[in-house]
Amino acid sequence: MHNLPIRCIIAAKYVNVNNMRRLIIPCVWLLCLLLLNPFLLRSEPNPRRKKAPKRIIFLIGDGMGLAQISGVMVNDPKQNAFERFPVIGLSKTASADNYVTDSGAGATVFAIGKKAKNGAIGVDSSEQPHRSIFEWAKQSNWGTGLVVTSSITHATPASFYAHVPSRKMEEEIATFLLQQHCDIAIGGGQKFFTERKDQRNLFAELSQLGFTCKQDSVLVQTDAAKLIYTLAPNGLKTMQAGRGDVLLKGTALAQKNLSKHYQKSFLMVEGSQIDWGGHDNDYAYVQAELVDFNEVLNAVLDWAMADKNTLVVVTADHETGGLSLLENKENLGSFKPHFSTKGHTGIMVPVFAYGPGSEAFAGIYENTEIFEKFAQIIKRNGTTQRAR
Ligand code: MG
Ligand code: ZN
Repeated sequence: MHNLPIRCIIAAKYVNVNNMRRLIIPCVWLLCLLLLNPFLLRSEPNPRRKKAPKRIIFLIGDGMGLAQISGVMVNDPKQNAFERFPVIGLSKTASADNYVTDSGAGATVFAIGKKAKNGAIGVDSSEQPHRSIFEWAKQSNWGTGLVVTSSITHATPASFYAHVPSRKMEEEIATFLLQQHCDIAIGGGQKFFTERKDQRNLFAELSQLGFTCKQDSVLVQTDAAKLIYTLAPNGLKTMQAGRGDVLLKGTALAQKNLSKHYQKSFLMVEGSQIDWGGHDNDYAYVQAELVDFNEVLNAVLDWAMADKNTLVVVTADHETGGLSLLENKENLGSFKPHFSTKGHTGIMVPVFAYGPGSEAFAGIYENTEIFEKFAQIIKRNGTTQRAR
């Protein structure tokens, strides 16, 4: 207590006018130097100033492991979209009850950030529902959408908007769309809305909530901000059976409508049938589906590169088929695709990221982290209002 006045007197003795001048002149010079040299100002970037994306496009190649990508893309004459991503990571895919996950637990973990038991949709290992990334997004006034080549009630898309203990409950899963956490859904699955055991017509109920509900065999343009579009009674055709560019056009439609009607948006796109080809141990099926997925990735990347506000993340829920590329003794410049199982495997899967926020996806991590990274972006960047 007594020392304080003495210190003040000593300080006052040294702070005379000459000392002040000596101090002020170099300070002014230093300030001018900093103001005139933006390079110096930028040398220590403030992490808080990092640009956050306004849009997230999350693409899941169901069952797409590194062998599928390596094998298919080596022979594809089109641009390899995977090589366009500057940030690469690896995701560990084990579920809550099985080192080898299924697509229910594999997508639930992306959607709610919790490990689930195989077969579960949007619930944790105790079957407790947790708010999904779509629900987080809607709460922050983001638009949400999904485009798939399975039914829109299949395990992967369902995990983003529904909470049920079993992926088999597709009729019940469909009713969760009435909660309006998913603005746009494009894929198959009409029968789960109109040919139900409870006789309800969910399309009629969704229409009353303002959704445009379309049932077609071909995709036509529509401007709807809230859209449920089914293109088949259950899953869509395979590429080999003539599906064409439905996934590409569906993704473009969802992206256009989300951009038009919402200032911020989260779109999930699934190459659903890469997995189905793996289960069939049919390399040509996998190849055709992955080539289609690659086309979609290229289009999404072109769009994101022009937009500059879009984060694009691509990964898989797991690998399917235990595919390996064996030496081809008849032609050493090629390989023999070899499947080791009709089921899934527990190998890590690659994660590819582009755009603002993409650096967070580098490294090796549990698949729960993918939800966390998306949730951080939405929490930091979620308070704007609907565009119209
Ligand atoms: Mg799937
Ligand atoms: Zn599967």
